[in-house]
Amino acid sequence: MTEPADFLLAVEGLTVSFDGFKAVDDLSFYVDANEIRVIIGPNGAGKTTVLDLICGRTRASAGSVRFRGRELTRLKEHQIVQAGVGRKFQTPSIYEDLTVFENLEISFPRGRSVFGALAFRRDEAVRERVREVASLIFLEPMLGERAEALSHGQKQWLEIGMLLIQDPALLMLDEPVAGMSVSERRKTAELLRRVLRDRAVLVIEHDMGFVEDIAHRVTVLHQGRVLSEGSMQHVKSDPKVVEVYLGH
Ligand code: ADP
Ligand code: MG
Repeated sequence: MTEPADFLLAVEGLTVSFDGFKAVDDLSFYVDANEIRVIIGPNGAGKTTVLDLICGRTRASAGSVRFRGRELTRLKEHQIVQAGVGRKFQTPSIYEDLTVFENLEISFPRGRSVFGALAFRRDEAVRERVREVASLIFLEPMLGERAEALSHGQKQWLEIGMLLIQDPALLMLDEPVAGMSVSERRKTAELLRRVLRDRAVLVIEHDMGFVEDIAHRVTVLHQGRVLSEGSMQHVKSDPKVVEVYLGH
């Protein structure tokens, strides 16, 4: 039997009430390492709240979130980041006045003692990592540009880069391709597949073409619960999903 500890992320019985209303209601799902999982579902289904609960922004009323075997529901937000969970919000929080390079550089985790007192060696390692991430997010030619000069899609990639530079084992993205052009969507899908090599990705998305393009498995949320789960093919042909979501 597969135990919860065998998964990268095991969410079990997760519940949160806002004034008696259960936005997430006894929710369980499991994500493997190196998996792209997409959460879909109608507006108000509780998708964003699930990410809020995992990253510690919202406190669970009940249930557990185990990540690499460690319970996250009692940790503070910054401890959850340190544990290896990176979360991107719907509106990008980049520094418009700083360059792409500087945005990535300030996101590099502080206080890693491996470099000891040799500050110059740390700087070298940071520059190296910044270039590596910039190339992943298609922004290497833009490293010297101020972030305000980027397109909407490039700003989204920059924010993903600011998370990647912290090397999270789980990357969570809330509607990353909203407002992107078709070609930007395609490149975002490519980007997520590239970053997968060493981490899992949990994505909320409405764009079914994009979901189809990237998802290994899909979890359909409805009224804070799992309505259906499996391959895109499976959930697409599930009459319950057609009724509450895809049919609209
Ligand atoms: P989704 O992302 O699937 O559209 P949300 O997770 O944002 O849905 O919201 C789920 C439900 O929980 C909605 O009815 C929303 O109004 C409610 N909700 C979310 N956050 C809060 C909060 N902090 N306080 C009260 N109600 C909330
Ligand atoms: Mg939402």
